[in-house]
Amino acid sequence: MKARNALLAAFTLSTLATAVQAADEVVVYSSRIDELIKPVFDAYTAKTGVQVKFITDKEAPLIARLKAEGANTPADMLITVDAGNLWQAEQEGVLQPTKSAVIDANIPAQYRSSTDSWTGLSLRARTIFYSTERVKPEELSTYEALAEKNWEGRLCLRTSKKVYNQSLTATLIEAHGAEKTEEIIKGWVNNLATDVFPDDTALLQAIDAGQCDVGITNTYYYGRLHKQQPDLKVKPFWPNQDDRGVHVNLAGAGVTQHAPHAEQARKLLEWMTTPEAQGIFAGVNQEYPANPAVEPSAEVASWGTFKADSVATEVAGKRQAEATMLMDRAGWQ
Ligand code: FE
Repeated sequence: MKARNALLAAFTLSTLATAVQAADEVVVYSSRIDELIKPVFDAYTAKTGVQVKFITDKEAPLIARLKAEGANTPADMLITVDAGNLWQAEQEGVLQPTKSAVIDANIPAQYRSSTDSWTGLSLRARTIFYSTERVKPEELSTYEALAEKNWEGRLCLRTSKKVYNQSLTATLIEAHGAEKTEEIIKGWVNNLATDVFPDDTALLQAIDAGQCDVGITNTYYYGRLHKQQPDLKVKPFWPNQDDRGVHVNLAGAGVTQHAPHAEQARKLLEWMTTPEAQGIFAGVNQEYPANPAVEPSAEVASWGTFKADSVATEVAGKRQAEATMLMDRAGWQ
């Protein structure tokens, strides 16, 4: 009997040890590539001893995987880009609310889900870029003005299939209503210099090469390209400074609905909003920290300061379906 009890005790202890060990890890599904997240996780492990395991894939397969795995998922956290995608994940029921005074204090409400299902961690502006050879910045003013006659045959756009443009359009609908937004988008489509681009980098290269004079892309693509090509004849312009401001979107994360280590995931998420982590997370991709107490990198700061649209970023998700249909009607391929 004694021996059996001892065996039982040993069994219980080893089970407990396994449980404790498992609690010291967080499993992350990420649509950001390895080199953009690994430095953050390495710093967290060095600081806390908590192991962060992650897999990377595109957001749609990751969300589908979370749904399929349901309560059996090993994933504690989902990291993805664009408030439109995070909102989608929330709608699909794969995220759970994380109430946190730390996150609330570190990240402005407009960059968080109103249900606390996700928070932004880094920001990117989707702004106007222009040819320094063929455009004077004084000729530029607003996103809306790119629909005017003087830009005919001079504008480049990325495909409307990309969530970034759907989110931009969603915020235009929020600001102007559907009818006026459709007019603006039709104006853009009429002004296109060439077919829509599959990605932002190709679009920036087209401006540099003289294929078009202006376009709309995310700031970090410019950062990357400019680093490779310091003589790039393209610069950012900050539109709508006299009204609602520049369209800003984010990369962010949420704790999964069935997280096996929800408490550890919350702690990691909280840490990712602190100045210590924000510099790394935003810096590796030339983004703006979502925590306003943290300065952007020198390179990003060199692009100048601007007023950002104060609209809640989740509007990008709420109006995504409407935006997609409107872009289609307006002929934006
Ligand atoms: Fe991107």
